[in-house]
Amino acid sequence: MPDLYAVIGNPVSHSKSPLIHSAFAQQTQQSMQYTALLAPIGGFKMTVENFRQQGGKGLNVTVPFKLEAFQLSTRLTERATIAQAVNTLKFDDDEILGDNTDGAGLVCDIELNLSIPIAAKRILLLGAGGAARGVILPLLQKHPALLAVANRTISKAKMLQEQFMMYGNIAAGDFSQFSKEKFDIIINATSASLHNELPGIGPGAFKHAELAYDMMYNLDAYTPFLKFAQQHGARQLADGIGMLVEQAAESFFVWRHVKPQTKPVIAMLKSANKI
Ligand code: NDP
Repeated sequence: MPDLYAVIGNPVSHSKSPLIHSAFAQQTQQSMQYTALLAPIGGFKMTVENFRQQGGKGLNVTVPFKLEAFQLSTRLTERATIAQAVNTLKFDDDEILGDNTDGAGLVCDIELNLSIPIAAKRILLLGAGGAARGVILPLLQKHPALLAVANRTISKAKMLQEQFMMYGNIAAGDFSQFSKEKFDIIINATSASLHNELPGIGPGAFKHAELAYDMMYNLDAYTPFLKFAQQHGARQLADGIGMLVEQAAESFFVWRHVKPQTKPVIAMLKSANKI
């Protein structure tokens, strides 16, 4: 019997994770089966328990259950503890290990796939939700000159600044505060692109940017953020496909202790995109 894994979310049918993990399993010759698991809102814990009773070995967790997964874990990695969110669960006997691989996925995509070092760079991170929270520590661990967090609700950005200031040089503000400053890398971790909207950052921030990165993926066209970045001087554009595949590879390693090759899987998914 192959070992059982799944991505759990609501909604979940759009998820690319089954495709990604099946490709990893085939490539590394691991005997595993990976499916998508829809949990009702309010029924996360019960759905996880049923999956474990059927012999499930691990789960990827997506919207809106990352906080519930954090609470359900009986042991947490340091990066999950600091992010206060879990996207990877591993079941060993009575233990539920919670990890967060989103930040490692982003850093790997920027540094290895896009060949842009983070050290000594000025980075602007737009958004202060779950995705932003998960990437701050891994970004700071790469020693940027500055990590500025800008959010529509400024109090949330300030809270993140306070929480992470012991790990590196972090600033916080609203979009207007950073609109005229020089940044090397600008990352959109808001959900504005989901609604085809532009986060309210001014054009000046993009003038010297070597990379504009939108965490949103599954693109039929450039998001308003990527279009705006291109119009105002960003030299390289990237969507979140690379991050998605890299965080999946990190989860695969947590479960199977084997690191799959990500480049062919990224290429496969990008060839299905229309941009
Ligand atoms: P959350 O709901 O936790 O946070 C949403 C954030 O977006 C908040 O900071 C919110 O600001 C801001 N926001 C929402 N709408 C607007 C708008 N119109 N203008 C400006 N700011 C806005 O979402 P997540 O953090 O979980 O996800 C964010 C994005 O990251 C999504 O697009 C998601 O698909 C993507 N993602 C991609 C991953 C990948 O592997 N590529 C992994 C994880 C996430 P406020 O606080 O003011 O409400």
